[in-house]
Amino acid sequence: MTEAKHSRFDAFVRNVRHSSRIELSQSALKKNVNFLKKKLGSHPRYSAVVKANAYGHGIPQMVKMLEACGLNHFSVASAYEAEEVLKCSSGSSDIMIMGILYDQDVEWAIQNGIEFYVFNYNRLPLALEKAKALNKKARVHLEVETGTNRTGMTEPFFKKSITFLKRHQEYFQFQGMCTHLGGAESRSNQFRVAQQIGRFKGYLGELKTRKFLPQYLHMACSAAVLAMPETHYDLVRVGVATYGFWPSPDIYYQHIQEKGRGKDAPMNRIISWKTDVMDIKNVPKGDFIGYGTAYQASRNMRVAVIPVGYCNGYPRGQSNNAYVLIGGRRAPVTGMVNMNLFMVDITDIPGVELGDEVVLLGKQKNNTINVSSFTNYTQLINNEMLSRLPAAIPRYIVK
Ligand SMILES: *Cc1c(COP(=O)(O)O)cnc(C)c1O
Repeated sequence: MTEAKHSRFDAFVRNVRHSSRIELSQSALKKNVNFLKKKLGSHPRYSAVVKANAYGHGIPQMVKMLEACGLNHFSVASAYEAEEVLKCSSGSSDIMIMGILYDQDVEWAIQNGIEFYVFNYNRLPLALEKAKALNKKARVHLEVETGTNRTGMTEPFFKKSITFLKRHQEYFQFQGMCTHLGGAESRSNQFRVAQQIGRFKGYLGELKTRKFLPQYLHMACSAAVLAMPETHYDLVRVGVATYGFWPSPDIYYQHIQEKGRGKDAPMNRIISWKTDVMDIKNVPKGDFIGYGTAYQASRNMRVAVIPVGYCNGYPRGQSNNAYVLIGGRRAPVTGMVNMNLFMVDITDIPGVELGDEVVLLGKQKNNTINVSSFTNYTQLINNEMLSRLPAAIPRYIVK
């Protein structure tokens, strides 16, 4: 192997560095999980929602970290994500697909003991056929329509499904009956949520009449876990709160009304996002920085070049409208966020050098950049900003 011949390949196997990195705090996660478990008491099972690459945090790392917190049920939105979890979870954890499962993947799901939502009666005959061929039970959750009008079957199909499952019990494990609330995080939506709970009880009545109950009844997402104990039932599906974010200001205010503004923050952000100063420039007064005329130097300036752009998940809407941390100080973004670079003003931060750590999200010395620093300036919401962080950014677990 001569070097000249294989230099491109070498670059690949040498594990060259990515332009940024994400750190995930195990101790912050532990606090969140403990706080949420306390809310739940001993009965409901805690399913960690790890769809969207664990809300951008990274499935392989988060599954490992969540298992270290004692959790062993994971909810995802597709068979692809279920496979991601399957590859990195311990054999004893359960995986549940709440979203799309293509016909061609039904066999794979049954074979691997993956639980899946059935929101359309037509899914059942195919599942039966595959379960028979594998001689293995399909683990199904019947999702019912209660008013979100997303997925979920209406009453006639629900009744038909129960009849079908009862008749073929040797090939089905009736894991759950579930629904999803249409906006549990917003106060103004409570009348609708109350209606949904009522309708859910109607479906439950049908199950009781037929003496055919699943292992788990479930409907609660993060907001419902935090603010509506009557929705907890037997299993809860906790996404955003697991990662340390309040689902909405409404839910946060309800918490402080009940508990007061304690010294201990019960929910803690897990994620930090970091990079390094790539280059430093002196810009004469009157010159423009970067593309176009978005930023003109109003004095002689010193700027740092940051090797991250919108292709790396740093929103373009942050152009001229955000800060990063360098040396524990806030450095404002100057000009447009480009595809893979942007510039920040370090004129007032003495001593910055090439290679200095740059915090895009998270803490440095006494300063913090929150996700809300992003979402207040763009039309993004927390979940959207986080879930768009490319899976290719390396993620490391820290204490
Ligand atoms: C995403 C999702 C959840 C989790 O919602 P959070 O508000 O993040 O807790 C729960 N259930 C279903 C069906 C979902 O799609």
